Amino acid sequence: MELGYCCLEEIAVRLLVVEDELDLLRALEKALHEEGYAVDTASDGEDGLFKATTWSYDAIVLDLMLPKLDGGELLKRLRRVKTTPVLVLTARDALPDRVKGLDTGADDYLVKPFERLELLARLRALVRRSVGQAVPVLEVGDVKIDMASRTVTRQGKSINLTPREYALVEFLALHRGKIVTRTMLYDHLFDENEDSLSNLLDVHVSNLRKKLGSDFIITRRGQGYLIDA
Ligand code: CA
Repeated sequence: MELGYCCLEEIAVRLLVVEDELDLLRALEKALHEEGYAVDTASDGEDGLFKATTWSYDAIVLDLMLPKLDGGELLKRLRRVKTTPVLVLTARDALPDRVKGLDTGADDYLVKPFERLELLARLRALVRRSVGQAVPVLEVGDVKIDMASRTVTRQGKSINLTPREYALVEFLALHRGKIVTRTMLYDHLFDENEDSLSNLLDVHVSNLRKKLGSDFIITRRGQGYLIDA
C-alpha cells in the first residue's frame, strides 16, 4: 500500500518525433512504442511543422538541425499557434542552439548522444505536466481514489459513492496511517447545522464498509477512525 501516481500507460499519450537521422528516428520510435506511447514521426522540418500544427500531441521531440526547415524555426512557428510541450534534441556543445531553443519556447532539451532512460524520464515529466497529472490518484490496497474526477474504483470497478462518502474516503486516505478523530471529520464533512446528527458519521462509515470492504476503515474506540498505511 503506497501513495501512488496514476500510470501513464492508462492514458493514451501521442507523441511526435521530428528527426532527420533515420537510424535515430527509428530507434526513438521503437523505444517510445515500447513505453506504450502512440508515436508519429517526421524526418524534415516542413513535415514536422505540418503534423505538429495539424494534429494534437501530448509532447514533441524535436531535433534542431533539420532539412527544409530547421528545428528552431519550426518551434517559433509552432508557438504562434500551439503550446504543445517540446523537448529539443541538440548537438553536443551547441550551447547557443540550446539557449535559442529555450528562448523560442522549448520546454526542455537533451544533448546528443543521450541515454534512452533519460529521454523517457524527461518525456514522462513533460507529458505529466501537459495532461495535468499533478493531481494524484491515491491507492489504498485495491481501492483507487482519483482526486481529479472524485471517483473511486475497487479492483478496477467503479464504486458509486455519495459526495459525502467520497469526501470521507478522501479525507481518511489523505491522513492514512493516522487516527482521524470524529471532531476532525465533523469539521471537514458537515456544516454546523448537522452537528446534532451524532450517528450520521457511523452511517456513512458503515455504508463505505459495505462498498469498499469491511476492513477498509478501522474504528479505534473512543479515538476515531483510520485507514491503515
Ligand atoms: Ca539533425
